[in-house]
Amino acid sequence: VSLTVGVDVGGTKIASGVVDEKGEVLARDEVPTPDPREDGADKAIATAIAGLVRGHRAEHQVGAVGIGAAGFVDKQRAVLMFAPNIAWRDEPLRDRVQARVDIPVVVENDANAAAWAEFRFGAGKDVDDLVLLTVGTGIGGGVVLDGELYRGAFGVAAEVGHLRIVPHGVLCGCGNRGCWEQYASGRALVRDARQLVTYEADGSEALAAACGGVPERLDGPTVTRLAQEGDPVCVGLVAEVGRWLGEGLASIAAVLDPAVTVVGGGVSAAGALLLDPMRAAFEAELTGRGYRPVLEIRLAEMGNDAGIVGAGDLARRSPRAS
Ligand SMILES: [Zn+2]
Repeated sequence: VSLTVGVDVGGTKIASGVVDEKGEVLARDEVPTPDPREDGADKAIATAIAGLVRGHRAEHQVGAVGIGAAGFVDKQRAVLMFAPNIAWRDEPLRDRVQARVDIPVVVENDANAAAWAEFRFGAGKDVDDLVLLTVGTGIGGGVVLDGELYRGAFGVAAEVGHLRIVPHGVLCGCGNRGCWEQYASGRALVRDARQLVTYEADGSEALAAACGGVPERLDGPTVTRLAQEGDPVCVGLVAEVGRWLGEGLASIAAVLDPAVTVVGGGVSAAGALLLDPMRAAFEAELTGRGYRPVLEIRLAEMGNDAGIVGAGDLARRSPRAS
């Protein structure tokens, strides 16, 4: 198998691409995600993916399909046991799509697929051990150990966003309190920014102006842009997210000892404004500091293609594709 199709199933769109052995995307296509609230949406999503695959096969010799989706994928890479955004429960996505396209299909967690893409072709291609942190609304995570994607015994590694970092902290959508992604994410950034506007905090004038005084209108990219323009309060908000990231990463490094941590996702657009405080907090909290090498924190390089490229490459390597 030299060419595969990689598919990235998101809450609003299904993106796909033809991926070659070097991780290049030769062709792309996308469709809106069928509304998961409608009856039969599970089948409609499989049909939509199959339609994308058929379109690519009309132009390219494709040998396998890799699908990345947010959620818990079982160890056999066949069933989405739980997908919060698409309301899938025990969805046999692999078999549904495979019945429609008649070439091998594998399913992977989207953050795992992105971690694999960064490891093979992106910011971690020079190392054997990496952790990817996709910092968007929440934190997605993927782990590559000794050159292999780490999936855990039941297939659901590595949900790093739900590492408990604050006892009895902020309530998380997962039902627990104090999860990492409630402090080190776009959601946290926006929550804090809105608070400052609501209470007309000292120095929050630029934030207030950006949303016309209506806190609910603020979003992550706006806070990041103001930080990049040098607004001191927004620089501080981004730095706070960076500090939480660094503290949590110190716990992860204590267990996994990766060579590189790759930071992607929307919040990573803040660049050094995020990564410098993250690095400082990490180095201050790392266990055994001063007596061990310190991992490198790097920005992701694969951008929005990470999911497609990672899923496509994992499909190529799957024993099912040979
Ligand atoms: Zn949680």
